[in-house]
Amino acid sequence: MRPKTRRLLSFSGCLTLSACNGSLNELIDELPSWQGDFVTYHASHGLETCEGTRDYVDGFVNFVADELQIDPAVGVRYLWLDDEDFSRTNCEQTADGCSIKTNAVGRKPGLLHEVVHAVTHGNSMNRWPFFTEGIAVAYDPWTGDGMGIRYVIAPNPDEPLLDPRPLMTSGSPDPVHYGLAGSFVAFLLSRHGPQPFVAMTQRLGSVRTMNRLRKVFRQEYGHELDAEVELFMSGAPCDEQAFPVLVYDCTMPNVAWSNPTYWAYGDSLDCTQGPLVGGIGPDRAWPSIRSVTLDVPAAGRYQLAVGSDEVDVQLGACFGCPWEPRHYTAEVGKSTVLDLDPGRYYVRMRANSDEAPIVVVGLSLAPVP
Ligand SMILES: [Zn+2]
Repeated sequence: MRPKTRRLLSFSGCLTLSACNGSLNELIDELPSWQGDFVTYHASHGLETCEGTRDYVDGFVNFVADELQIDPAVGVRYLWLDDEDFSRTNCEQTADGCSIKTNAVGRKPGLLHEVVHAVTHGNSMNRWPFFTEGIAVAYDPWTGDGMGIRYVIAPNPDEPLLDPRPLMTSGSPDPVHYGLAGSFVAFLLSRHGPQPFVAMTQRLGSVRTMNRLRKVFRQEYGHELDAEVELFMSGAPCDEQAFPVLVYDCTMPNVAWSNPTYWAYGDSLDCTQGPLVGGIGPDRAWPSIRSVTLDVPAAGRYQLAVGSDEVDVQLGACFGCPWEPRHYTAEVGKSTVLDLDPGRYYVRMRANSDEAPIVVVGLSLAPVP
């Protein structure tokens, strides 16, 4: 399925940086703030975050920086804004958010796409919009506030992927196909780890030419860009040593099995209690998310069952390659039969922040027919 190209812009429409910072700083001064280890979080008056939201955004900065081996302490600020406050920023007004230097601005309680931009900006990695958008899509676990996934284009043996090269030198995020950029960056991370990507994006200057890119790519990766692109388009095998390109959910608390054949997690997804991510405003509520992890001890056939019709549940692997389909969405009222490899998985539960549904997720070894 071809994804919708999202219009989350990484650059505001500021005519001058001083004008941009002036209006933003005035707004920031008026908003209540919360100080985390890596994020200063602000929300417009009248917007209530669910209990776990601020810690979640704070931890996400550390997660992304840890995955990429870059500095988390770059002064990231998150601003969750209502329409009135959003109109005072220089973000494009039709967008869900934007980033301005290390300020991530969103109309949502935790627009992680913009948080990635803020972290990579603070590490001097944002000069080429194709790679800036690509890394943000690769690490945004919800793809906005949906259920993911991040590798939005699966290789099809009969039809090669689009060629990302014509988009790489774009000076603006507008023409960038976000799904294609995110998939290509995830492909590079999986095959070569984060170090050459970080070094390359830090070295790419403001002159955007393919010659420049090919040269820097060759120096940092020790491979030819065109060869990697060809492999990306036609599909590559997944190496056992692949860098896992984790989703943030994979760092959430691990829940042990109840007995050797049955795993279960039950909870109330209540915005006012516990580590739930989400938020409520005067006129509406945003999606709320909680995740845990579990370890599947052995390859086998399992049944995934969900005991609530108000909660979406996704199970996904914390290993493998991003182009391998290893995420499963449970159908309400049905048990879903899955053939799982051993390893760590995340379980993501999504409800609405103004509801507090009880959810029970069960995974059991399927009976042998
Ligand atoms: Zn973006």
